[in-house]
Amino acid sequence: MQTNKKVQCKECLKKFHKKEIYTIQQFQYKKEPKYKWILVYFKKLKIDEWDSFCEECIMSYSKKVDDVWNKQKSQVI
Ligand SMILES: [Zn+2]
Repeated sequence: MQTNKKVQCKECLKKFHKKEIYTIQQFQYKKEPKYKWILVYFKKLKIDEWDSFCEECIMSYSKKVDDVWNKQKSQVI
């Protein structure tokens, strides 16, 4: 088994060590929105639970999710 296998970030195409991998699955620990909502959102972006991202990209997606969610929330009166 190789421990130093490299993977590629789907977003920025940067290569990094497999143990530093991030996926959208970590968003299930978000308080809001619900993970189900998040999955639907990423499906539209053609991203699934098994796509790999680097830390920077997953952080920026996390921010995007918050932005879109907050906008949507404020539209529902
Ligand atoms: Zn990246």
